[in-house]
Amino acid sequence: MRYAPPIARLLEELERLPGIGPKSAQRIAYWLLTAETADADRLASAITEVKRTIHFCPVCFNFAQEELCGVCGDPQRDRASICVVEEPRDLVAVDRTGEFRGVYHVLQGAISPIDGIGPERLRVRELIDRLAPGEITEVVIATNPNVEGETTALYLARLIKPLGIKVTRIASGLPVGGDLEYADEVTLGRALEARREM
Ligand SMILES: [Zn+2]
Repeated sequence: MRYAPPIARLLEELERLPGIGPKSAQRIAYWLLTAETADADRLASAITEVKRTIHFCPVCFNFAQEELCGVCGDPQRDRASICVVEEPRDLVAVDRTGEFRGVYHVLQGAISPIDGIGPERLRVRELIDRLAPGEITEVVIATNPNVEGETTALYLARLIKPLGIKVTRIASGLPVGGDLEYADEVTLGRALEARREM
């Protein structure tokens, strides 16, 4: 038996989502098919709205609804220190600890030679441009504690240190090979507090 074309299309779209295999796609599709129309509409309109209203912050490349993101638009933030993260979700994880009051820079990935991702594919150029005026005293590198994250951290340290800016790396104690976003607030907060100079 074949699915009716609209269901087949929904399954096809769901399977393209990260972490969703055929089994999960079927489960979600079944939920949508039996859900109240209003519930399904809310999901559809949330997707449409996020695509319509959210863009990348032109300063730090976090997600933004206004011209600047919530952090860059906040006058209380200390603009002398920049915390470098891989993805917007890592920014959220670091910020939740409350240990960092500076601003951020989202690389939008990490260096991964195996996947053919070099620094030119990341927002590295834009980071270096932000450091130029000489108002930055510290760059905290909070890339993930895995091979790609460490490679990226070393690359950035080599690039930034000659500019006379202190470069620090969040401490280990985070599960190696793990993702920042899965670290609990206390662990991540301690890792930030115990950051060491590179
Ligand atoms: Zn921003």
